[in-house]
Amino acid sequence: MHHGLVWRGQDGRIVGWLRQRLARLLAHEISLFAYHLPLDAHPTLGNNAQLGARLGLVADARFGAQSLGFAGAAVDTSLQDFAARIAGVLGRAPTVVAGDGRPLARVAWCSGGAQGYFEAAIAAGADAFLTGEISEPQAHLARETGVAFLACGHHATERWGAPAVGEHLAARLGIAHRFIEIDNPA
Ligand SMILES: [Zn+2]
Repeated sequence: MHHGLVWRGQDGRIVGWLRQRLARLLAHEISLFAYHLPLDAHPTLGNNAQLGARLGLVADARFGAQSLGFAGAAVDTSLQDFAARIAGVLGRAPTVVAGDGRPLARVAWCSGGAQGYFEAAIAAGADAFLTGEISEPQAHLARETGVAFLACGHHATERWGAPAVGEHLAARLGIAHRFIEIDNPA
């Protein structure tokens, strides 16, 4: 499971919808191991590394809280070409807030709901920042700083780390793994 079950000050009691979600595991006394940030951060198997690899990006720097953000040389100098590449890889068109139209030399990326990393990406020297979700302030920040912002889907950007870890463990330990993908429009 990608996210921890008890997250950001949530009530940790196993009742209601959370009880429903875990009902089969509880009935059969099966343990559950759920994690989130380590999977984003891992330099080769993590969500950001896997996303970057699919887009042809190689990280040479990290930024933001817990160094979850990745940054590297751009693969497309035009924002349009970069957006088209993303659409092809992710199978969905990103929401693009153009900056000042500068050619892209460096891009930064962080999968999922990392819109709050935009300022750190700008400070790290990115000409464009790619993440999953956008909130209202990022549109203004893009226009005012000239750095383009691309919201490409939380799920769409964050679905390759878990199967990569599964394949890694399967190859190492000879165990079976199964990645269950549940699509999400967000
Ligand atoms: Zn996430």
